[in-house]
Amino acid sequence: MRLLRRIAKAYLAPMMEEHRTVLKRLEDDVRTIRSLLESEATKNSKHVEETTQNIQKITSKIYNLQKNLESIQHDVKTMEAELQKLKTEIAVVFSNITSHGGAPSTSKEISHTRLDSPNHENDFLREKAPIQSSKRKDERPHQVKHETSTETKMKKKVIPPEKRGGRPRVGYLENQDFTVRSAKSTYVTRKTKSPSLRSELVCVRRGRVWQVYLNLPDDMLSKPGLEVWQGGSRLFKEAYGWPLVCLDKDIEVKWDEDGAQKVHKVFEALQANDALLFKLDHTLERGRQVKRVSKGAYLTIVPETWELATGIPNDPEPTQFPGYKAYYLDTTRTKRPVFSAEGRTFVPWKQIEFVLVGQIIADYDKEIGPLFRYPPCVKAPTDVWKEINLVVIGEEGPGKNKWRTSFKPNPEDEVQSLPPELSIRRGGWYFLRFYDEDDHLVDSMDFRFMGALKEIRVRPQDNVIVPGPSGHVVARVEFHHEKGSEVIPMENLHSVRFVKKEPWLTVVEIPPDPSLDLTRWRVILTAQDPKPEVELSINIPRLWWAVADIEAKPSDLHWRDKMVTFSKKDFCATSRVALFFKLPLSLPRLRIGFEHHLRTYTLSHPKHHIVVGLAEFTDAEALQKPGEHRLRIKIGRQSIDVAKVLVSLQCKWCKFTSFEVDSLIEHVFSSHKNEIFRNPTYDEMRELVPELPAKIYQCPYCEIYVEEDDPRNPTSMITRHVEEEHHPRETLGRPVSFRIVDDIEEIRTKISKYKNLPRFQVCRFCGEKFDLQKVQENDLLEHIREVHWDKVCQLV
Ligand SMILES: [Zn+2]
Ligand SMILES: [Zn+2]
Ligand SMILES: [Zn+2]
Repeated sequence: MRLLRRIAKAYLAPMMEEHRTVLKRLEDDVRTIRSLLESEATKNSKHVEETTQNIQKITSKIYNLQKNLESIQHDVKTMEAELQKLKTEIAVVFSNITSHGGAPSTSKEISHTRLDSPNHENDFLREKAPIQSSKRKDERPHQVKHETSTETKMKKKVIPPEKRGGRPRVGYLENQDFTVRSAKSTYVTRKTKSPSLRSELVCVRRGRVWQVYLNLPDDMLSKPGLEVWQGGSRLFKEAYGWPLVCLDKDIEVKWDEDGAQKVHKVFEALQANDALLFKLDHTLERGRQVKRVSKGAYLTIVPETWELATGIPNDPEPTQFPGYKAYYLDTTRTKRPVFSAEGRTFVPWKQIEFVLVGQIIADYDKEIGPLFRYPPCVKAPTDVWKEINLVVIGEEGPGKNKWRTSFKPNPEDEVQSLPPELSIRRGGWYFLRFYDEDDHLVDSMDFRFMGALKEIRVRPQDNVIVPGPSGHVVARVEFHHEKGSEVIPMENLHSVRFVKKEPWLTVVEIPPDPSLDLTRWRVILTAQDPKPEVELSINIPRLWWAVADIEAKPSDLHWRDKMVTFSKKDFCATSRVALFFKLPLSLPRLRIGFEHHLRTYTLSHPKHHIVVGLAEFTDAEALQKPGEHRLRIKIGRQSIDVAKVLVSLQCKWCKFTSFEVDSLIEHVFSSHKNEIFRNPTYDEMRELVPELPAKIYQCPYCEIYVEEDDPRNPTSMITRHVEEEHHPRETLGRPVSFRIVDDIEEIRTKISKYKNLPRFQVCRFCGEKFDLQKVQENDLLEHIREVHWDKVCQLV
């Protein structure tokens, strides 16, 4: 030991010393590296901090610049408009001075006069549209005025689109007299084209049937002796216009002029493979005929042989005209209107698209056009603009004498800005109509704008809101607006709560109520006179469902946002129970089913609900197993269980139910054992225990049991017993009846030699016999479970 220690001291100590030194050096190194790293990290973080600050500075600068640019743009627009207004007025005053020799007149009167004489252009207008006669300058303006207006009326018969009949959209079918109030517009240009008398076709849904009416331009309505004829039938004007009797005959308008009858064809009969296209307005019940298809809601009236080939189910609707049917189409949702006939597919209308460009304020805009902060620009490819001769823009909505103007687009530019007068109006609801060289309506669209409205924020925000476990929650809507404007609901919304009403912010809370998912509001600029206003819709895209008879009326539906419970019988093949879904307006389809087997349902009409008849799921795999199953829907990116289906096993003999086979079998075994198992019959027992006699009788007098085993004399023993033991005389003349004893239990208890007879149970379903000396009760239960469980219960 001592030696070992010495060796260790001699050899190990220096080695350890050496290692210690190395270790120390390593530790020093680590320390140096760490301090280096730390200083480096500090430097980096400082750098990151600086960069972040710089980015923030730059972002805020960009933001400020954007704001400045926005306000400059707005100012420029306003100034442009002001300038043009002034130019117009100066030109008008100037022309008035020259024509009236300086007679005093107010500029307002002058501008109205100007309005009624379409060819009386001012200098500015000439600049914009150098199309008018060159001899004008040589003549006295007041003569020119007289001559050109007469010429227009008598010879040219030009009825430009912006002066065409009736009011836009809401009232256009009534053909009210219309005066262009805002003829100040320098954008108004006149055409000097070949004579044309343009009328238009409108479609109107009357009940379930679509009817087509002819609308005539205002100028024609006042013609003396005006008559409208189609084929040999005279048409008589109704509220919506002159109803067409067919589509395959021309329509002619006749009137008296200079003692003669003038005749003009206003509608050319459809050829065998022609169809009509109408752009529907926000009611989806009326529309104007258009030449091109863009985005929006359309009605097509097509020959009966045509089939819609968009791949989306779409039932045709009836029309007034034999041989034709109507299809409702929404090109914002579906693809192009493709039709098929005689084995080929085709797109009957050329597709174009005008896009409104501007700062959009998101509200629910499907029906009355998008909402912008400032007047938008219109964008289309230049080849589309080449087709457009005139764009008419006007105030939309009911009422007479609404503001309206027009401009001729520059076919070189993709983006056309709207007349600057529009931005001076500060807000409102407007239509745009695009006409081609022949004054045919090519497309139309609506938009709204309100400069005082900055932003609308809706919480929660999603394209579909599915309820949580306790249903939908209150939604919060924030209207950010400028001072001097006000947000008010269109209807009396008692349950909507105003949380904040400040000059620049209005906050409302919308409770979870399906009738409040779509609310209508007005934003009014009270600071200006007249007060421009704009309507808008707030859509809370909540998902709701209801349970009702498959043919229930929408008014009878009780909408829910919590899980529904069904039983299996609700899904039987004859069930009339249905689930109705009220979908968010932007999502027309959902998928529904058990587990992963989902079926797709699509809305055929945006105003309808999706109806899912539960009978359609009668064969669903899930319903063939006991337990709780979830009916799940998928909509957009969300999915939710809308119903649970309790499929239980019910005892065949009583009302007992269970989800579990085991507990049901236990119940059946304990409560209904005799319905499943029975004791063996005497003959069955004899097969199992051959020593049993053929018959056992009981003496009617002394109740003794007698066994008979001789098949040739089956009653010899009992007869002998009666004769020997009892009074035969008493039995003379009367047949002696012996009771046959076949009850095994009686034999077992009454005849001592059989007291140990084995005990058997016989299955009533399959006849299998169980020797209870060899098997346990549990084996009987197992027999039911394994062989007959479906005979003792049913799925309910
Ligand atoms: Zn039972
Ligand atoms: Zn007896
Ligand atoms: Zn059995």
